[in-house]
Amino acid sequence: MASIAANERVFNFSPGPAALPLTVLQQIQRDMVSLPGYGMSILEMSHRAKGFLDILATAKADLRELLSIPENYEIIFLQGGSRLQFSMIPMNLLRGATAPAEYVVSGSWSKMAFAEAPKEGPAKIVWDGKTTNYDRLPGDIPFSAEAPYAYLCTNETIQGVQFDEDIDTGGVPLVADMSSDFLHRPVDVSKYGLIYACAQKNAGPAGVTVVIIRKDLVEKGSADLPGYLSFANHVKEDSLFNTPPTFAIYVMGLVLKWLKNEIGGLPAMLARNQQKAKLLYDVVDASEGFYQGHAQPNVRSLMNVTFRLANPDLDKKFISESEARGLDGLKGHRSVGGMRASIYNAMPVAGVEALAEFMREFRSQNS
Ligand code: PMP
Repeated sequence: MASIAANERVFNFSPGPAALPLTVLQQIQRDMVSLPGYGMSILEMSHRAKGFLDILATAKADLRELLSIPENYEIIFLQGGSRLQFSMIPMNLLRGATAPAEYVVSGSWSKMAFAEAPKEGPAKIVWDGKTTNYDRLPGDIPFSAEAPYAYLCTNETIQGVQFDEDIDTGGVPLVADMSSDFLHRPVDVSKYGLIYACAQKNAGPAGVTVVIIRKDLVEKGSADLPGYLSFANHVKEDSLFNTPPTFAIYVMGLVLKWLKNEIGGLPAMLARNQQKAKLLYDVVDASEGFYQGHAQPNVRSLMNVTFRLANPDLDKKFISESEARGLDGLKGHRSVGGMRASIYNAMPVAGVEALAEFMREFRSQNS
């Protein structure tokens, strides 16, 4: 990797933890030693102090506004990552059920989520993209009316396949893992029973996971669950059941302000994300097979652009030359191979333009 001067930043295409808006990082730096009005660092502040309670309330209010979250939904901030939700969701919504929860397995993360469900109750896969190495998504999914919940991952981070609209389940509570495309577009929250997302891709640093849950589902968890694992406890204590990840929630709050005030809300964010993704897919499509996209064109992710070089012998060269240009984190996941450009909300258009330009040059020099 080329040496980077202290004040220079690379374009970070990592799948997560991932790029944060520069203005957010600058504000953290400015306020790190003393949060204006409070005389201490956010890192030192009690989770019961007014300063943190204000931060928590503001983050919740901004999230509710950005996603137009209806009043009959609760917002809680948890730890344990999205991985814990793979278990916590069936613990709360599946224990004691007679009909199976119905899972769509569209990639690595929904596959891992499904693996946890049968430990807690009946569960089955209603669609599986395995035979084509998860390069496509189902059309209409016939969920059964009696399923305790339907489950899907809106954006498979590893394969780069994404549902671009809210699925209608015909009344079955829909549980969605939005970890890698949270807040990238407006969502009709009323179509979901539960939405969750770890922050470290699109909404902040690692350490906090947001759960948005419809009120009637909160109390479903059996009374004998370990305390931390019950959604009801976190709702009752307003995310203060235990000491929450205060710093991560603070940074997420700044990202939400950035989305509102600098981006102009989720419709504007979506337009920018579509523009960025198109820059890269256009290079892939115009490359006469030099670059090959993994996802079928109709389900291509706006967040994780997965592609291979037709000649894998060039992979290492692509990585080392891209790094030398300050384009970092492009190596794909081993299960898909090739490259993955994660272009979450905070990746500037200039970063994607620089990558597109590099890809065009690399092709002309190596074909
Ligand atoms: N779901 C998706 C879609 C993800 O991309 C990830 C992380 N890459 C996870 C779940 C797991 O998140 P965590 O590491 O926070 O547990």
